[in-house]
Amino acid sequence: MKIIVINCGSSSVKYQLFDMDGPAILAKGVVEKIGLNGSFIKHESNGSKNTFEGEIIDHQAGIEYMLGILISKEHGCISSFDEIDAVGHRVVHGGEKFNSSVLITDEVIAMLEECIQLAPLHNPPNLSGIYAMSSLLPNVPQVGAFDTAFHQTMPDHAYMYAIPYSLYTKHAIRRYGFHGTSHRYVLRRALEILAGRNVGRIITCHLGNGASVAAIVDGKSVDTSMGLTPVEGLVMGTRCGDLDPGIITYVMQCEDIGRGTVNTLINKHSGLLGVSGVSSDMRELEAASAKGNERAQLALRMFRYRIRKYIGAYAAAMGGVDVVVFTGGIGENSDSTRYEIAKDMEFLGLEFDKDKNAGVRGEEKIISKDGSRVTAMVIPTDEELVIAQDTEAIIRAEK
Ligand code: AMP
Repeated sequence: MKIIVINCGSSSVKYQLFDMDGPAILAKGVVEKIGLNGSFIKHESNGSKNTFEGEIIDHQAGIEYMLGILISKEHGCISSFDEIDAVGHRVVHGGEKFNSSVLITDEVIAMLEECIQLAPLHNPPNLSGIYAMSSLLPNVPQVGAFDTAFHQTMPDHAYMYAIPYSLYTKHAIRRYGFHGTSHRYVLRRALEILAGRNVGRIITCHLGNGASVAAIVDGKSVDTSMGLTPVEGLVMGTRCGDLDPGIITYVMQCEDIGRGTVNTLINKHSGLLGVSGVSSDMRELEAASAKGNERAQLALRMFRYRIRKYIGAYAAAMGGVDVVVFTGGIGENSDSTRYEIAKDMEFLGLEFDKDKNAGVRGEEKIISKDGSRVTAMVIPTDEELVIAQDTEAIIRAEK
C-alpha cells in the first residue's frame, strides 16, 4: 500500500510518500514559500535531491506541482496516481471532537471547519491540503491525524483553566495539548524497547523549535504542557511558554499595542530568541553560549530549568516516574541539554549516565545507568510514519 503524508503549514507543504510494505520512504520533500516570491519545491527520491522553482500561488498549486514530480519519468517514483492508495494529513487542532485519527468525510470536514477558531493559524492550511487532495485525487481516501487527539484522555482537573466555567461551555476554552503524534510515537517505541520492564508512568519531552512535555500513565496522556494553543508550557524557540496572564494586559498598556501585536510578541519574538537576542536555534545558542554570551547562557538555563520543573511536577502528579524520553531536534541531538535537565535527579530515582549520553545524536539509546530505577532514553520521533500507519489501519478497516 502506498500512502502520501501531507503536512500543510501557512506557506509550506511537507510530504512523504511511503510504501507501507517496507515501510520505506519512496519520496519526500517540501513545497516552500507558497504565495510568496521565489517559491520552490525541494524533492528527494531514488537517492537524488532536486530543487524545482516556479510560481506557486496556493496550496493546491503546490500539491499539484508536487504530484506532477512524483509521476515524472526523470524525478518521480510512481508511474500513475492510481498507485497512491491513500492520503494522510497532519491536522493541528481537533478540538474535543477527535480523540483519534479519522477517515475524512464531508461531515469530518464540516467539523474541522468548526475547529478553525481554536487554531486560526494552523487549521486553515491543513484544510487547504484536504480540499486540494479532494479535487486533485478525488477517488483516493484521506485520513486526518490530529496533534491534539492523543491528549484527549486528560482528566478534567488537568485540562480545565481556573476561569469562569461558562468560557469552557461557550467557547471550548480548555487545555488541549499538541505534538500528540510525536508523544504517541516515542511512547510506543519506549514500550517496545523496554518490554517487560516497569513502564507504567512515562514522561515524554518533545524538545524542538516547538516543545512540550507529556505525562503518560498506562499508555494514556494524563497531562501535557501545551494548552488551548501551543504557546503554553515550556520556553520554546520563539514562544514564551508559561507566563503570568497579567503580563499580557500590562504590556498592551505600557507599549500601547493591540491584541494582534501582543500575539505576535508571545508567539514569534519570545522564548529563546526573545531572551537571548541571538537566535531561536539551539545550535546557534549553544555556540554563542560557549563564546561567553551571557544572554544566550541565561536563555539556555531558563529552557532547561522549565523542563526540569515540569518533570518534577509530572512525577508528583503521577506518584512517581518510570521512564523519561527525550525527542525532537533538541532532545534527540543536544547531549548538553539532556545532561543539564536530567542530572542530579537521583532523588527521583533517575541515575543519569553522562558517558552514555555524550555524543548521542538521532539514535535510540538508553542514557541512564544500568540499574537506575528510572530509565532515561533518547528516541528520535517519526510523526509522518505514525500518520502513515494510522492511515493504513483506517483504510484497511474500511475495505
Ligand atoms: P525541530 O523543531 O524538532 O526540527 O528541532 C529544531 C531544533 O533542534 C533547533 O533548535 C535546532 O537547533 C535543534 N537541533 C538540531 N540539531 C541539533 C544539534 N546537533 N545540537 C543541538 N541542537 C540541535
